[in-house]
Amino acid sequence: MLEVEGLTVAYGAILAVQNVSLSVLQGEIVVLLGPNGAGKTSTLMAISGVAPRKAGKITLDGTDLGQGGHTAVRRGVVHVPEGRMIFGDLSVRENLMIGAEIAKRKPDLDLALDWFPDLRSRLSERARALSGGQLQMLAIGRALMSRPKLLMLDEPTLGLAPRIVEDMFRKISKLSKHGVSILLVEQHLTHSLDISDRGYVLANGCIVAEGAAYELKKDPALTTAYLAKSAKRIP
Ligand code: ATP
Repeated sequence: MLEVEGLTVAYGAILAVQNVSLSVLQGEIVVLLGPNGAGKTSTLMAISGVAPRKAGKITLDGTDLGQGGHTAVRRGVVHVPEGRMIFGDLSVRENLMIGAEIAKRKPDLDLALDWFPDLRSRLSERARALSGGQLQMLAIGRALMSRPKLLMLDEPTLGLAPRIVEDMFRKISKLSKHGVSILLVEQHLTHSLDISDRGYVLANGCIVAEGAAYELKKDPALTTAYLAKSAKRIP
């Protein structure tokens, strides 16, 4: 479904991602692991078309996703960024509607509210009144309003209480069983590998290990990667 081949992302002299190839198949959960600065967010942003792709091919169902603007989201690749990017001054309903608008889809609030019923009673409230867990629900709910084929979630459990983290992982697992493919970036290694089919480990912008989630769990490269630091400079 999603194929990334030889992706390189550079911010000026900083090589954030180097020659990364990965795939996500229909209905799979694939996790991208690695320490801070490994290039995980840059990979997701390049797939979304917003990070500078220096080299490589990114295709969805065989066709290039292109760069810039809203191309990826209209093709069904929807990114829930770290930090959620919720508009605090807009209502919960208005935030959700943005998901439909940006993807040029017919709005259907039930696409989000059936998954996150807690938001139903909060629709008219300003988003800034929500708790951290509810904001993450809103961010994913907004993405669901775009009717994604592939959902990219960047650290969806960051800063959430342990009980909410459990709920979130359960929900992500359930979403994939309903046919949404998921590319996940997470810091909860064991938990994210538990719900994933496959995974890739990034260090210094390069893939250092990949495979079935249950195999990656015991791969020493996973631990080694977390000792690696920051991106390489272009010589
Ligand atoms: P984190 O878990 O901290 O978000 P990450 O694995 O997602 O890390 P990236 O955020 O993709 O890693 O960063 C990869 C490298 O690219 C880092 O060295 C980072 O400092 C650099 N970088 C990221 N965004 C930019 C930018 N806009 N301009 C310059 N350098 C950047």
